[in-house]
Parts: sequence; structure tokens; C-alpha cells
Amino acid sequence: MSILARFAPSPTGRLHLGHAFSALFAWRSAGSDGTCLLRIEDIDPDRCRAVYEHAIYEDLAWLGLTWPVPVRRQSEHLDDYHAALTRLILMGVAYPCFCSRQDVARAATAHGPEGAIYPGTCRTLDAATRAERIARGEAHSFRLDVAKSAAITGPLFWDEEGEGRIEVDPTIFGDPVIARRARFSEARPTSYHLAVTVDDHLQAIDLVPRGRDLFLATHVHRLLQALLGYAAPRYAHHALVLDGDGEKLSKRDRSTALADLRAAGWTVADVKQRIGWSA
Ligand code: GLU
Repeated sequence: MSILARFAPSPTGRLHLGHAFSALFAWRSAGSDGTCLLRIEDIDPDRCRAVYEHAIYEDLAWLGLTWPVPVRRQSEHLDDYHAALTRLILMGVAYPCFCSRQDVARAATAHGPEGAIYPGTCRTLDAATRAERIARGEAHSFRLDVAKSAAITGPLFWDEEGEGRIEVDPTIFGDPVIARRARFSEARPTSYHLAVTVDDHLQAIDLVPRGRDLFLATHVHRLLQALLGYAAPRYAHHALVLDGDGEKLSKRDRSTALADLRAAGWTVADVKQRIGWSA
């Protein structure tokens, strides 16, 4: 069976050496008779820029990669994510949360791998209060009630290449945000977790190759897949390319941007050597 994989960068900055590794890894994961799709994850209008999207096409083409067109751009599919959110709300596992980031930081008593764990302030608000606060135009996100979700799905696992079955811990981040904070419900807000889960399903992805920094997010994605009745893809999380100090590379650090290296005369072979890529 030929494999369908994907590479899903966000156009929030220029691609760097770490992205080069990730892209080469994704295309190789698909195998010679498989396909790797390119998906543009541009749901955040405050951070995404058209110039960065064009730079993605340019950098990947320079690396010698090709992909089927048209490319799925998440900003053109907000209805799909909204439909999934609506289903979760109707199932009773997604609820509006009126807390700001500061509210959460102040009220949190537990910390998870990505900071303060939401203490559940809005989980128990009654339906009338929720409706009234939304009608008043109060900004709200939607969160996933992970305890309720896990009770519905039962134990879950995902298949990690080279590691086998990984058991899902649905509570790892507390109740995660699945639609970002917005003032009006008609704004169709979504989140990385929800959009990525819906897209991997709609695009019938078999294998999700991506960096190790997203390993823990898979706990949330697998839970969402089970709730929405989606088949689970396999996952392959690769080790990250680090800088000289052992730190993760950043889109803000110009010294590793592919476009700059190219302008400075680097060849693709130079890039591959620096990231330890062997064909
Ligand atoms: N859009 C995400 C990023 O650029 C990657 C999403 C994924 O591969 O699941 O970090």
C-alpha cells in the first residue's frame, strides 16, 4: 500500500535548517511509491504572512521536493473546523471558557509539560450562564473536557514508528483549548489541535511525520480523533536539529534561515551535511 504523508508548516517565519530536516524526513517517510502532501497551516491571521508562505514554496522546491497541487490552506477551510467543533459541543465534551490567559495563570495550581494547567473554572458553569455571557459578547475560547472525553472513548493508543504502541494520557495538558478566544461565536475560531486533526482525517493521511516537539500534542490529537470517529494515522516524530548550544532552532534566528544560507552560497548538499541528513 502506498503511503500518504504530509508536511504542514505554518507561514509565521522563514524556514530554517530544522524545517529542512523535517521536510526531507516527511518526503522520505512517504517512500518512493507514496506521496507527501504540503499543507499550509495559516489559521492565525496575526502571525501568518503571505511572504512566508511564498518562501515555503521556494525553499522546498530548492530542496528538490515536489507536491501535489492545489495545496490545502487551512484559512480556506474554517467551516470544516467549525463543523467539528459544533459536533464536540453537541456531544457535551466542548465548553466555552471565558478565562483570559492571566485568569488561568492566577488560578492554576498544577503545571503540565507546557505550563499552567487550566483549573477548570468554566467547566461547571450552567447552560443559562454560558448562553447569557456569550449573548453579552464576552470573549471566550472552547475547551475540551478531557475527563468526559476519556470516559466516552476508553483507553487509547497511537502507533509510533520504531516505538510501537504509545498509551494516550488524555489529561496531560488539562482541558486544552480547541477553539481560540474570540468575542463572537460567528467568527469560526479554531486551534492548532482541532485543525490538524480534522485535516489529517479529511486528507486521509496514513502517516504523520513531524518533530519531536509535537510528540505530546499527539495525546490530544488521538483523543479528538476517537471522539470524532476518525481513523488514527501512524506517527513518526523525529529528533530536532539543535544549534551549537543544544537549543531548538527558532524562526527568529536569521543565521539558520534557508533563504539566507542560499543567498550566502550554501548548496543543498551543504544543508544536508549540516543537519546530518544521509539519503
Ligand atoms: N504547523 C505546525 C508547525 O509548523 C506543524 C503541525 C504538524 O506537523 O502537526 O509547527
